Amino acid sequence: MPVNIAMDGPVGAGKSTIADRVAEKLGILHLDTGAMYRAVGVAALRRGLDPADEEKVVSMCRSIRMDVNFEPGKGQRTLVDGEDLTDELRTEKASMAASKVATYPGVREEMVRSQQRLATEHDMLVDGRDIGTRVLPDATVKIYLTASAEVRARRRYLQLLEKGQQADYETVLKDLIARDDQDMHRAADPLRQAEDAVVVDTSDLTFDESVEAILKLVRESQGGK
Ligand code: C5P
Repeated sequence: MPVNIAMDGPVGAGKSTIADRVAEKLGILHLDTGAMYRAVGVAALRRGLDPADEEKVVSMCRSIRMDVNFEPGKGQRTLVDGEDLTDELRTEKASMAASKVATYPGVREEMVRSQQRLATEHDMLVDGRDIGTRVLPDATVKIYLTASAEVRARRRYLQLLEKGQQADYETVLKDLIARDDQDMHRAADPLRQAEDAVVVDTSDLTFDESVEAILKLVRESQGGK
C-alpha cells in the first residue's frame, strides 16, 4: 500500500510550499490538486469559454486529456492536451476561474478519479480541499492546514509583489474571503475538516516550524519511527 498523506485547508494557508518541503523531506511526491482545477480553468479561458457556463466547461473537461508529470528539480508539471500550462496557473484570473469550475460535480468527478489513480501508483502527499474527505478517505495521515484570513492575505500579497505582479492588500483579502466562501459553501465536496484530521494553524508559525509540526505528525502516525 502506498503512503498517502492528505493535506487540506483554505487558500493561502501555505499548503503548496509547505507540502513541497514536507514531501521532499519524506522522499515522496507532492500532488498539488489545485493546479489541476486551475488547469481546467485556464483551458476554459483559452478556449473562450465563460467559466460560469457549467455545461460547456464540463463537456470540455471530459474531452481534454490532463497529464500530471513530476520532473526532478521542476516539481509538478500540469499539461492539457500535451501543452504544459504550469507557468500560467498562478494568476488571480486563473484562481477565480479554478474556484468556479471546481464547483461543478462533472469537473470534480474527472479530477477526483485521476487523483485517486495517481495516489495508488505512488507514495504521495496530496494537497487540496477534499483530499481527506473525498479523494483519500483512508489516507495514512490527514492534516488540516489553516491560518487567519488576515495572515493568509498578507502572505499572498507579499508573494504577488515578490513575483513582480501588481497587488493591493485589501483586494487580495476580499478575493481570498470570496474564494473561501465559494470553497466552503459549494454543494459538491466543500472544503471542510475531515473528522480524523489534525489541525495545524500556521498563523503564528514560521515556515520551518510548520514543516516540522507536520513531519512530527507523520512520524507519530508511523509509531514514532
Ligand atoms: O489550492 P489552489 O488555490 O491552487 O486551488 C485552486 C482552486 O481549486 C481552489 O480555490 C478550489 O476552489 C479548487 N480546489 C478544489 N479541490 C481541490 C483543490 C483545489 O476545489 N482538491
